[in-house]
Amino acid sequence: MTRTRRALAALALVLAAAGCGKSGSPPVKGPKAELLPHYQVMTGFSLPDSPVWRRAKNRGHLVVGAKEDQPYMGEKDPATGVYSGFDIEIAKMMSASLGFDPKTIAFKTIASANRETALQNGQVDYYVGTYTINDNRKKLVGFAGPYYMAGQGLLVRTDEKDIAGPQDLNGKRVCSAAGSTPYQRIQKDYPKADLVAYDTYSVCVDNLLTFQVAAVTTDDTILSGYAAKVPDELKVVGKPFSKEPYGVGVPRGDNALRFALDNAIETHEKNGDWQKAYDATLGLSGRKAAPAPPIDRYPAS
Ligand code: GLU
Repeated sequence: MTRTRRALAALALVLAAAGCGKSGSPPVKGPKAELLPHYQVMTGFSLPDSPVWRRAKNRGHLVVGAKEDQPYMGEKDPATGVYSGFDIEIAKMMSASLGFDPKTIAFKTIASANRETALQNGQVDYYVGTYTINDNRKKLVGFAGPYYMAGQGLLVRTDEKDIAGPQDLNGKRVCSAAGSTPYQRIQKDYPKADLVAYDTYSVCVDNLLTFQVAAVTTDDTILSGYAAKVPDELKVVGKPFSKEPYGVGVPRGDNALRFALDNAIETHEKNGDWQKAYDATLGLSGRKAAPAPPIDRYPAS
């Protein structure tokens, strides 16, 4: 195959993974349903101090914000509409601990730039989607966790020889998602990079495969998912150059919900669910699990 045809074939795969392709194209190596753990639903659980929990109870199920184009993390099957990935498993664990059968979760795709408003407007009850905990965001939303520690990295085409780390981005076109911490870091620390933003990373990856950009930057978790889908075309280079502790986003001020989710994360880490979920999802990309970071139970806000 010529280089362009190979790139187009790779693009079709990524688009299918992102839910933009022809319906019916199965993910290359999606999580196997039979390997996913079943989470024990807490019966008789009640959290009357949480406005979010009370609203969900009245509704009968949870509405959870997620990503749909991040292989092995948060991915929506275009044929079935089913979401899968490590973040999706975390969302299910949280649901089971709050007394709601995970099968009843209504997932809603929310892009990086829209997470805070989605939580503030009550569009979602909580959010699980590679969401870095930081002090700026804590002014707008609450975070349970962290449940994982990622780090910023770079994704390039396999034929790329000039980019091995962020120091090599001067004058190079690099793509990230609007409203993300990796975008902000390049803007601040590597101002000579020619930085462009789209709503989602899958659009950045399309641009990389079609030679519109030289690199995509975001968390190593997300990048290794894309690289694993098309290893002949894409590779992750260099060492992670930030710390991205992933939290479960909740509306700010719903401290009862936040603390209940902190406890839930700890429970599922201790009982082995976390590891099993990792192995059945992100583990398939070839990444070894970084140890789960300690929970940050910061004071009620
Ligand atoms: N973890 C980073 C963030 O929360 C990048 C990944 C994303 O955009 O979801 O901004």
